[in-house]
Amino acid sequence: MKLDILAFGAHPDDVELGCGATIAKEVALGKKVGIVDLTQGELGTRGSAEIRKVEATNAAAILGVSVRENLKFRDGFFTNDEQHQLEIIKMIRKYRPEIVLCNAIDDRHIDHGKGSKLVSDACFLSGLRRIETSLDGEGQEEWRPKVVYHYIQWKNIEPDFVVDVTGYIDKKVDSVMAYTTQFFDANSKEPSTPITSKNFLDSITYRAQDLGRLINKDFAEGFTVERYLAVNTLADLI
Ligand SMILES: [Zn+2]
Repeated sequence: MKLDILAFGAHPDDVELGCGATIAKEVALGKKVGIVDLTQGELGTRGSAEIRKVEATNAAAILGVSVRENLKFRDGFFTNDEQHQLEIIKMIRKYRPEIVLCNAIDDRHIDHGKGSKLVSDACFLSGLRRIETSLDGEGQEEWRPKVVYHYIQWKNIEPDFVVDVTGYIDKKVDSVMAYTTQFFDANSKEPSTPITSKNFLDSITYRAQDLGRLINKDFAEGFTVERYLAVNTLADLI
């Protein structure tokens, strides 16, 4: 299946938190979008890998993505090496996206910056035809996405551009709340973490609202780029 956009996250819920509203909007506009999670989030303080799997499936349905896969890399300990790059290359060549979204370039959780570089490197390597991969016994052709954009996570990284997601913030919050074990729940008996606070839950909306404020919209999500942003005409930026 050919996709327009493929979003990678080190952990299930990274994509929802980083760019869930953008994905919901692109799907509503008719784009085909998929999600690939690198790990099962098995080191998460609350819940379990099995529960996260169900939650991730529910979140994907809320966002309306066409496919969601999990590469089952080791949470916390995966590395940016040939073996891991090849697994990501297989996904890129399988879905042939023009746009790849991936983790923040630098963040509080070490898997985020690591996953960001890993996916970015794999996007480049995937375009080299002499790197041979196969899936289900079939050889794959090379494919390099046109662009790689990094969503913003825990840290307030200055975005290179923002997407107006007015009208889609509720869908984003719903997709995040599909991870019922991971976020604020006044009745939870499990240990508290930085992402289980009420403030963190509220931050999903207020951070998007603040980015929206700066572009005279209600809500926005920010991204960073790896090369200059290009437009066809000056009017594209109005
Ligand atoms: Zn994460």
